[in-house]
Amino acid sequence: MKLKSTSRFFVNNYFSNYFNLNYPNFIIIYTDGSVSPLSAGYSFFIPELHVSFSNNLPPSSSSFTAECCAILEALLFISNLAPNNYLIASDSMSCLQSLISNPFNSKLSPIVFQIKSYLYYLNQSNRLIQLIWIPSHIGIYGNEIADGLAKATSNTILPSPAQIPWTDFSPLLRLHITCLWSNHWNNLPAYFASKYKTIVPTISNKKTWFYNLDLPRSSIVRFNRLRITIMTSKKQPNIQSFFKSTTNVLPTQEKLDNIQNKTDSVVLISDTNSPTSSVSHINRHDIFNYVKRVLTQNEIHDILNSIWIPDVNYNFPVKIFIVGKDKTTKRLKFQYKWFASFPWLVYSDIDNGAYCKFCVAFSTNYAGINNQTLGSLVTKKYDNWKHALEYFKNHSQLEYHKKCILDSENFLNIIKKKSHFISRQTN
Ligand SMILES: [Zn+2]
Repeated sequence: MKLKSTSRFFVNNYFSNYFNLNYPNFIIIYTDGSVSPLSAGYSFFIPELHVSFSNNLPPSSSSFTAECCAILEALLFISNLAPNNYLIASDSMSCLQSLISNPFNSKLSPIVFQIKSYLYYLNQSNRLIQLIWIPSHIGIYGNEIADGLAKATSNTILPSPAQIPWTDFSPLLRLHITCLWSNHWNNLPAYFASKYKTIVPTISNKKTWFYNLDLPRSSIVRFNRLRITIMTSKKQPNIQSFFKSTTNVLPTQEKLDNIQNKTDSVVLISDTNSPTSSVSHINRHDIFNYVKRVLTQNEIHDILNSIWIPDVNYNFPVKIFIVGKDKTTKRLKFQYKWFASFPWLVYSDIDNGAYCKFCVAFSTNYAGINNQTLGSLVTKKYDNWKHALEYFKNHSQLEYHKKCILDSENFLNIIKKKSHFISRQTN
């Protein structure tokens, strides 16, 4: 039956018949929790007794915690009532499932244990408690009231002294620790940086190279030492040089002929005479590491806050372009002043091209919006310097680009509020 399309009247009739038939002598208690980025609250409502209750929680609470708090509060209330049959109607499937899950699972919220012990205690004292799942937002009267109460409470400004379990803080702590580690790594003393950053340029949540490999520890240690020795030895070439693209060579006559058959085409060679980067291949959050990937929150945070930007003295590699019908060659490179005109613009030293940091971070949500396909600057580099200005201006106007900027602002706001909350809790 499609409940959403049916009328409230029918829905309420259906559920009250269902309850009368299956739970004839039960007092029904509707519970609900509500969480928004800035606030959280929970409530219960007992139509038969004309009783309602609501309270708020700190904004970092999970919706799971809010739903559990609502059930726990209802049980506390029942313990003050006379022995009877009580039916708790919750719209949180995850909460109800965790109540019947393995109690030895260490990841269970401490509130789940509290609920379980109250259920045991109340059943011992002649109060029969049953729990039932009901669908939300389809117009069940009691559920709507509880929902409204939880939402209204969650909008009150002062957080209640209600305690939230440690499990709600673990993602925040993880983020905080990764940030500390990342900062430490980015500011390693030069001596250590030159040794280790070639191997691990940035701290991310990527799995180790030996994850899921059935290797003895001695082999892992040996291979790690081998890597460090190769990467840090002055006599050996940088191991990355073995993986450099082969386009870094002068074109043969055949290649040039091919290119000149197309007018206005781009030659995919670097100028071998121009010095490449003035900084060494270490100490950077190069945007290329994040392109075309599913990103963690930490990685998005890195893109927005600590992505590598070349300094003013950086030598951008020259590219040769063949222009116009007379096939003259032009030597062009990325212009540093473009950074000032386009705040979203970043440059990849690894990939030798430009990217939009906001779109790299968020564009996967908007692929195909208004038939705008994600392309250069987002899923691959842009390095056609001949038309760069025009291309960048056009990118600034794209629908998905604007949405990505909004996403970035929202993301940073939420992080800011959460860390503010953590510092308030820990001070
Ligand atoms: Zn963009």
